[in-house]
Amino acid sequence: FFITVEGGEGAGKTSAIDAILEQVKARGYDVLSTREPGGIPIAEQIRSVVLDRNNTAMDPRTEALLYAAARRQHLAEKVIPALEAGKVVVCDRFIDSSLAYQGYARELGMDEVFAINRFAIGGWMPDLTVFMDVRPEIGLARIRVDQGREVNRLDLESMTFHNKVREGYLQILRQFPERVVRVDAERELDKVLEDIGQMLSQKLPR
Ligand code: C5P
Ligand code: MG
Repeated sequence: FFITVEGGEGAGKTSAIDAILEQVKARGYDVLSTREPGGIPIAEQIRSVVLDRNNTAMDPRTEALLYAAARRQHLAEKVIPALEAGKVVVCDRFIDSSLAYQGYARELGMDEVFAINRFAIGGWMPDLTVFMDVRPEIGLARIRVDQGREVNRLDLESMTFHNKVREGYLQILRQFPERVVRVDAERELDKVLEDIGQMLSQKLPR
């Protein structure tokens, strides 16, 4: 069973993932927790290129291809073997990040970005996607106070860009209503985690 967690900057994906892992383990599943872009050395190397603040000349299509390449390697090396071994895989970001960020916000087109990702993932779509929804003004205010967070190329983007990322995610939610579940991530953490718990008990096979 393949779970992905999505959302814009400062949505609280990390706290959501911690809660998901705890619940999934409590139900007796073997679980693998991982992240994108990265999760294995080759993909972490691609991550450092794609997120490097000095790479201001990066073309949007190059960016989309690098994310897809990192996704492929991570999937092949880590995710597919775990799924085949019967584990629940929980992944911080996956294809929907590319659709929202590169497809919608960078205006490459969601269908175009889906096409290169279809090639990259070869049918391994998530069974469940948890979309942590927060308005960018709130999310960005949260990360400004998080000192431990890495600084990256996305920190140079405008509010308009971050609003488009959110619109992209909302479009994905409408397009894939069986797979994607929205969590109102603006509320207090304990309420958010309660929602996630309820959702998992409905969606997990056991
Ligand atoms: O998951 P995390 O917030 O650490 O993501 C790292 C950065 O990569 C974020 O700033 C995110 O917006 C960016 N990103 C992106 N396009 C993707 C995936 C991630 O711009 N497809
Ligand atoms: Mg995080």
